[in-house]
Amino acid sequence: MSANDNELLHTVKFFGIISTLISSITRHMNDNQLLRYSRQIMLPQCDIEGQQKLLSAHVLIVGAGGLGSPAAMYLAAAGIGRITIYDNDEVELSNLQRQIAHNTPDVGLDKVFSTQQTLKNLNPDVEVKAVKERLTGETLEAEVLAADIVLDCSDNFSTRFAINQACVKYQTPLVSGAAIRFEGQISVFTPGKNNSPCYNCLYSSDGEELQTCSTNGVIAPITGIIGSIQALEAIKLIISAGEPLTGRLLLLDGLTMEWRTMRLKKNITCPTCGGL
Ligand SMILES: [Zn+2]
Repeated sequence: MSANDNELLHTVKFFGIISTLISSITRHMNDNQLLRYSRQIMLPQCDIEGQQKLLSAHVLIVGAGGLGSPAAMYLAAAGIGRITIYDNDEVELSNLQRQIAHNTPDVGLDKVFSTQQTLKNLNPDVEVKAVKERLTGETLEAEVLAADIVLDCSDNFSTRFAINQACVKYQTPLVSGAAIRFEGQISVFTPGKNNSPCYNCLYSSDGEELQTCSTNGVIAPITGIIGSIQALEAIKLIISAGEPLTGRLLLLDGLTMEWRTMRLKKNITCPTCGGL
């Protein structure tokens, strides 16, 4: 065997070992998935391991409107394995200005099924469970228990408090967003971890009813910005990247384009999480 042959053999063996290692690491992802998610996989904070976590994750999204649309679309595009989405409304013409998961021919269809169709077209890998009902009671508890992370994209206080209560009970991380007029806000609650406050530490359940977009108006991209940040925070939690917004409330004034951060503390007398 010549020196050149020996060198070639060593090279082949070396690449054989590398190739075996790569195939054992990536055995759950096919070539199309490696390509589809390549821009995330190349990030050191994500890598193959993080992408596998995303593909194995189950996210519950409550609300398929202005926040739920971009949040669900980015999570599906990023490769979240399972998305469960609840909403009891149908698509109306006045929704289309901001609820980007729905298209003009979808007017009159159930929002969850319109969203499901959009997500499947975006990424057929994703398993989407779409349920047309208001998520309450035992079903809410069961869905929160089954999810890795919950995104609150709802538009009323009673749903928000009920979601929060279930998340505290089962210690499921909650990514909460709200948008109205030219304003938005977002926070992350991780019950049972890092002395996290909960939604009820921030807002009292005997307060006023939430202001809605239908009575106050909302400029289109505000819901897109906040919903997209909700998706980003969920991804960060799943792959353990960076610092989540736990204990911080991020506020956006879209007119001045100023962001403010408010530090949130757990309220030891909070009726939901105070005793924990
Ligand atoms: Zn609390």
